[in-house]
Amino acid sequence: VSGFVQQCIAGAWREGRGLERFAVHDPATGEVAASYAGASEDDVDAAAASAAQGFADWSSTPAWTRGLVLLRVGELLRAGRDRFARLISAEQGKPLAESLAEVARAADFFTWAGGEAPRLADRIVPSRDAAELVAASQPMGVVCLLTPWNYPLILIAKKVSAALAAGCACVLKPSEETPGVAVALVQACQDAGVPPNALNLLLGEPAMISRRLIAHPVVRKVSFTGSVPVGRLLAEQAACALKPITLELGGHAPVIVCDDAPVEAVAAALCARKFHNAGQACIAPSRIFVAAPVFDRFLSAFTAAAQSVRLGPGLEPATGMGPLANPRRLAAMESFVDDALRRGGEITAGGRRRTGPGWFFEPTVVARPAPDARLMTEEPFGPIAAVVPFNRLDDAVAQANALPYGLAAYAFAEDPAVQQRLARGLEAGLVGVNDLPGHLPEYPLGGWKESGLGVEGGAEAIESYRIRKLIARAPTART
Ligand code: NAD
Repeated sequence: VSGFVQQCIAGAWREGRGLERFAVHDPATGEVAASYAGASEDDVDAAAASAAQGFADWSSTPAWTRGLVLLRVGELLRAGRDRFARLISAEQGKPLAESLAEVARAADFFTWAGGEAPRLADRIVPSRDAAELVAASQPMGVVCLLTPWNYPLILIAKKVSAALAAGCACVLKPSEETPGVAVALVQACQDAGVPPNALNLLLGEPAMISRRLIAHPVVRKVSFTGSVPVGRLLAEQAACALKPITLELGGHAPVIVCDDAPVEAVAAALCARKFHNAGQACIAPSRIFVAAPVFDRFLSAFTAAAQSVRLGPGLEPATGMGPLANPRRLAAMESFVDDALRRGGEITAGGRRRTGPGWFFEPTVVARPAPDARLMTEEPFGPIAAVVPFNRLDDAVAQANALPYGLAAYAFAEDPAVQQRLARGLEAGLVGVNDLPGHLPEYPLGGWKESGLGVEGGAEAIESYRIRKLIARAPTART
């Protein structure tokens, strides 16, 4: 992370004028890598005012031109992939190969949004007489985008690409813990031709910045990715201001492995996905229900795969799993393990933090935790998986659906009737059957129940930054 961690208002890069300073840490050592001053209340107001001006400019830019600019952002991300990836690994901790994949996926979101922008169209409604009726859609206005630290580039790319494609102007507040890659992205957007006041960047205290932005009269929509409790708080603030909010919140993805599935291959695939980003992913598989006849086989294959994941700093080429992004996750993992052990679970892999510097926690497998263990009811958001046997498929589905989360769910079965039943019966916004799909830009993904509101990705996401207007035009004044 360079020393250059500054906010950007109307194209002017400068330190925030708030009183508090924030530190950016290297999770592999725990040491401070950079520090910066956070935004003041006046900075927030200045960013909102800049975005109001930016909206006037950007919304009147032809959609075709907006699309070309977004395509260029995608190209700049690809051209600078090594620099972006190193920034991600340095401040978030994940292995460089995962950071490179994150840059590539973020670029795809801009490329896809750039292609979609010129396709936005009004709808002509057949009229009963000579009047013309148009169900038009227009960009909403200034939008407030709030993003977390686990995928510090791609989660910004999803929101910014859709909002800019729609013609909105943005005030972006990334995680206070991973600001470096957000700075680099905003620079790339400016280099690609996004007007500086159409994308403003605020850094610092999340509660103050989001509360003030949500209440600000020029802000018309809010989009947040993060935890359920913070999502609930922001939804209350948006409700008070009567503003729409898109929420992408937590998950605790269940997996059902049936007895006809290729058990060893499924165990290997689940291990790779589970420990990707050290498990700090909202769609990570985390409660694995396995048919009793194949439970032992699955557990031993999954345990062996977890034990073979190589823990190390993200910037070392041999690393399979990096450190956790912050010490809060480390403490949370220890508490999940202690609680699961007290409630009858057996640790078959990992279970401890690594001694020495950095925020490392071993890839961990807990067999047969009790149904009321916290690991079975609360999102772990870290490198711990629970593996539990089931006798009846209906019981597994009931347990899978029992939590208030509903973001992702997975099922492995060869029998087509069982595949169909699980595809339709699992309560989640994304169900992978014999598949562990990632989020691609071309399809909409959103959580059910407490996992979210609205979707990101797909034409639907761009539409969510636009507002409907019915235009009725008669040839002469009707009297
Ligand atoms: P947290 O709830 O404190 O913070 C989550 C995010 O919300 C951070 O990026 C932070 O900047 C922001 N935030 C915190 N307090 C806020 C406030 N009062 N107003 C506005 N924004 C605020 O939790 P954490 O310790 O950073 O992360 C742990 C939990 O967050 C995990 O258990 C996981 O459930 C969730 N999380 C989910 C995602 C996701 O992709 N859905 C991403 C990151 C974290």
